[in-house]
Amino acid sequence: MHAATTAYHWHGIMEEEEQQHGETLVSPTGFRRWLEAGNDDTPPTDARIVTSGQRRLPAHSTVLASASPVLESMLHRPRKGGSNREMEIPVLGVPCDAVHAFLRLLYSARCVTLAEEEIVGEHGMHLMVLSHAYGVGWLKRACERVLSSRLTAEGVVDVLVLAQQCDAPRLHLRCMQLLAEDFAAVEQTEAWRFLRDHDPWLELDILQFLEDAHLRRRRLGRRKAERRLYMELHETIECLHHIFKDGYAAMGHSGREEKRARCPNPVTCRGLRQLVRHLAACDSEKRRWCRRCKCLWQLLRLHASTCTELDDASCEVPLCMYLCNWCR
Ligand SMILES: [Zn+2]
Ligand SMILES: [Zn+2]
Ligand SMILES: [Zn+2]
Repeated sequence: MHAATTAYHWHGIMEEEEQQHGETLVSPTGFRRWLEAGNDDTPPTDARIVTSGQRRLPAHSTVLASASPVLESMLHRPRKGGSNREMEIPVLGVPCDAVHAFLRLLYSARCVTLAEEEIVGEHGMHLMVLSHAYGVGWLKRACERVLSSRLTAEGVVDVLVLAQQCDAPRLHLRCMQLLAEDFAAVEQTEAWRFLRDHDPWLELDILQFLEDAHLRRRRLGRRKAERRLYMELHETIECLHHIFKDGYAAMGHSGREEKRARCPNPVTCRGLRQLVRHLAACDSEKRRWCRRCKCLWQLLRLHASTCTELDDASCEVPLCMYLCNWCR
């Protein structure tokens, strides 16, 4: 039998059951498991999922058992009325619609259509609870992904509590990151006030994370500033080197000369050349107290301490050898 015919046939069975029992049925779109296996014979349903609203959803025990190890162990438990009696599995604690969505997704075995992604989005929190409780790993990961992508300041506290209870570390981390990014907005929510009044340990955890995140940001900022300063100094020393190496031709203002000298930073270079010209023109009486002269002296000393051309005495930077010996 062709796959499409099989799906149609199965849909027919489900419609008949619906007429007999007056119940909501699992969507036939999830029946891919049989279609993919190329099995032509659609078996009748042999189990019922009972929801908190006393709805009974027909299902196939083989699908349930292969989708969830918890359901599998429930199905293999000895039954009171003998093995011929249809198995009933209570799935309580969440709304009926969420159980229906859960069952439909168990049949699909993974989210492959947009409609199924939409179902996960619609019942995300309840599906997270069910997938955790019944050990459906792929669905739990899908819920984590969808809940993470839809996090808002308004709902983040509830999702954080859920992530903690369902042992979902990725979702937990994403919630904490959002809290750190937008704590001012989260603080205004009813959920945060409730948490603060009823779960001081979790509040403490969150505040500790925020403090750590703040310290991390500051440390990162400091490291960036240090790296920037190091780069600026490195460029300045490079410029100092090429200014004297190129001789007085490079002391002009032309952009072409800077390019020819392969200057790493033309702006720094211009300032440095002004400093060099200033040193030559500065009043010798005032030079001792002159900040601009002192600045150039410091740069000359820094160059001397790192100069690689000292050994062959080819360095063109003034006083390089003298300052190097003086530093020692
Ligand atoms: Zn330069
Ligand atoms: Zn000066
Ligand atoms: Zn040198």
